[in-house]
Amino acid sequence: MSQKQTILKLDQLNKHYPVRGGLLKRVKNHVYAVNDISIDVDEGDSVGIVGESGCGKSTLGRTILRLEEPTSGEVWFKGENITHLNEKKLKQFKNDMQMIFQDPFASLDPRQRVGDTLEEPFVIHTNLTKKERKEKAIDLLNQVGLSETHYYKYPHQFSGGQRQRIGIARAIALNPEMIVCDEAVSALDVSVQAQVIQLLKDLQEEYDLTYLFISHDLGVVRHFCNKVLVMYLGHMVEWAPADELFDNPIHPYTEALLSAIPRPIPGRERNNIQLEGDLPSPTEPPTGCPFHTRCPLATNLCKEEKPEWKEISENHFVACHVKA
Ligand code: ADP
Ligand code: MG
Repeated sequence: MSQKQTILKLDQLNKHYPVRGGLLKRVKNHVYAVNDISIDVDEGDSVGIVGESGCGKSTLGRTILRLEEPTSGEVWFKGENITHLNEKKLKQFKNDMQMIFQDPFASLDPRQRVGDTLEEPFVIHTNLTKKERKEKAIDLLNQVGLSETHYYKYPHQFSGGQRQRIGIARAIALNPEMIVCDEAVSALDVSVQAQVIQLLKDLQEEYDLTYLFISHDLGVVRHFCNKVLVMYLGHMVEWAPADELFDNPIHPYTEALLSAIPRPIPGRERNNIQLEGDLPSPTEPPTGCPFHTRCPLATNLCKEEKPEWKEISENHFVACHVKA
């Protein structure tokens, strides 16, 4: 069997936003949005990135794609350190990595036909003629389950599911290798959601795509992803193959997230852990383990020392003083 290649490597990646204040607009503090993230993603993986709202999922996605400059740490893509590449060199990599958002139409001109929108990447990045670009756009529409008639329509004429198909068509236009889906199906009805997920899977099969699938919906992640990263206050707390994570969650925060899934997973005994208290502010993160202020198992050690990142079984990593 051939060894899978690492496509993305994150090494101690941090993103801290300065908070300015006072008359002189001096930096008073930082939002510690993403902290020390280190994972390897293999070609063809669908990596779920989960955690409560505000835990740094979108910032992580945007920092990987260099839509945000990392504060420190490194991003490696296809064996190359892209952390400090200049705009010109970064361009090729940016084509290889795309993002799909929850509302792909938020940024679109309502007066522009969808066909013209789909042609934009070819205008910017290729020398194709107008006729060739149109063929390409119609081809993209077909690939995402739409048809030529949609080429002539305007954004408001599309349903939620169709809009997301357009978002996907835009993302795959330049044959990317990796796509970050940021809550891409979260706003869709369950039946439409299932169809869009199936489309993402079909495209993955056809084009060997790698997905980073940001979602607060663990039910969808279980169905779609083969690996899962659990984040809390910008830190990684658990990282494992999806089956392993759902069957054998170790971190009390992961347990709490799983307890909150509306439709329980058949056959799984539940430890009903309720999260108490609010998410602490990422401008003043707790000392020690970031989760200790809400953890039912926290000890003095948890308040004082950040737990080490331990591999407790093959490819299953967790940061917890008590459970690992
Ligand atoms: P998630 O996607 O998991 O909901 P985000 O990555 O959007 O979380 O946000 C993580 C933290 O970073 C939040 O506290 C958010 O307010 C903060 N944040 C995000 N973007 C910025 C920004 N541009 N400037 C300052 N703080 C930001
Ligand atoms: Mg987000």
